[in-house]
Amino acid sequence: MASIYHPLWAGLAVRPERGLAMLATSKIVEKNAYEVALENFDLAANALELEEGVRAMIKYPERILSVSVPVRMDNGRIVRYEGFRVQHSTMRGPAKGGIRFHPNVTVDEVKALATWMTWKCAVVNIPFGGGKGGVTCNPKTMSMGELERLSRRYATSILPLIGPEKDIPAPDVYTTPQIMAWIMDTYSMNKGYPVHGVVTGKPISLGGSLGRNEATGRGVFYTTLSSCEHLGIPVKGARVVVQGFGNAGSIAAMLMHGAGAKVIAVSDTKGCIFNDKGLDIPAVIAFKERTGSVVRFPESHKIAPEELLALECEVLIPAALENAITEANAAAVRARIVAEAANGPVTPEADRIFDSKGVFLIPDILCNAGGVTVSYFEWVQDENHLFWDENDVNKRLEKVMTRAFRDVLKIHSERNVNMRLAANMLGIGRVAEACKIRGLYP
Ligand code: NAD
Repeated sequence: MASIYHPLWAGLAVRPERGLAMLATSKIVEKNAYEVALENFDLAANALELEEGVRAMIKYPERILSVSVPVRMDNGRIVRYEGFRVQHSTMRGPAKGGIRFHPNVTVDEVKALATWMTWKCAVVNIPFGGGKGGVTCNPKTMSMGELERLSRRYATSILPLIGPEKDIPAPDVYTTPQIMAWIMDTYSMNKGYPVHGVVTGKPISLGGSLGRNEATGRGVFYTTLSSCEHLGIPVKGARVVVQGFGNAGSIAAMLMHGAGAKVIAVSDTKGCIFNDKGLDIPAVIAFKERTGSVVRFPESHKIAPEELLALECEVLIPAALENAITEANAAAVRARIVAEAANGPVTPEADRIFDSKGVFLIPDILCNAGGVTVSYFEWVQDENHLFWDENDVNKRLEKVMTRAFRDVLKIHSERNVNMRLAANMLGIGRVAEACKIRGLYP
């Protein structure tokens, strides 16, 4: 079978090694992400004392589209995949959110991810609502041709929902700049003219933004620096552990390494590596690009996934998937700061354990919002035919992230609530405010 690796897939890419071993290599306990999202909504709505009517208007997805995606495979067979696009909210602007191609995609997972996008865009105060899409498939087993046909057919199926003023997809797990280019092309061919602003996370040559590929990891870095400053932890020499050495995790690790921190352990689906003196992160990135995994990196030894999460460190960055830290393993965590690069890696039960242990959590809707923030910059540039240089993008991102961090911290301190609740109160409060001002139609 043809490899699906392609230079355009760099960073956000599916690389050949990634796949389903995830469930075998870590103790991820199944939990419905949407139930978690609803539970966290209720906690914030109660703390904000939101009226019932406003809750009814902003809590649930506005639209859920379920699509059947038939694809002709290379061997001539037609295989049908299931796909979804969920618009959770367009209260503050067009729906915005990635598309995930993964075997575990369910409608509830997409609903949860769309819900988090709504609060996330509000936390960083960009004029978007929340959306998400997904196809239940395993891109690892598909050729480039099959993947292109899948992407184009899925894009055609969700075409009535998407558009630069309506709903703007982007890459998520196992989707890439190349897939965004196919979606942009499919949409444009149907319209009869090029529409760059229909997706973000595109290749640079197609209206993508400089800095987008690194934006999520960079946002994790900025919020981690702010947390260290808040807690009086020197970044130089701080021990950092990263679960999930993909786009978000590896960039965050590289920037922390560059700032003088000591990244002592990282992992991917194949396993975890450790060096108590600190790993040479640029070399680990190059090694992974060459071999497909961090495992067997020289000057490191292999440890078990549960050992990685239990390492004593200043910063733990879960950057893989949902439900990595649950009530089963949260008590073993010995980090001062947990920076949620992934969406939903810590369950509410684990949150409660962290609270009792005094772990400082940077919640996902704040921590990983750098990606959607630079997606917003990309959309602004596309719609206005502008090209910002990378320095400009990074400076704007830093400003947005540090301001959002300050806003969340203020609620955390003034209301004496944990950082997750503070971030949800900020995001949900802003959406509720927009809802009240807009009123109920008709
Ligand atoms: P990615 O596919 O580039 O990387 C994921 C990495 O996690 C891979 O290296 C994979 O091997 C590893 N992994 C998966 N399961 C693992 C496990 N159980 N243990 C250890 N490693 C494991 O994906 P990404 O874009 O970096 O996204 C990661 C997370 O960040 C997701 O939750 C995603 O929703 C979130 N996120 C990403 C972005 C973005 O712009 N990339 C933005 C916001 C949120």
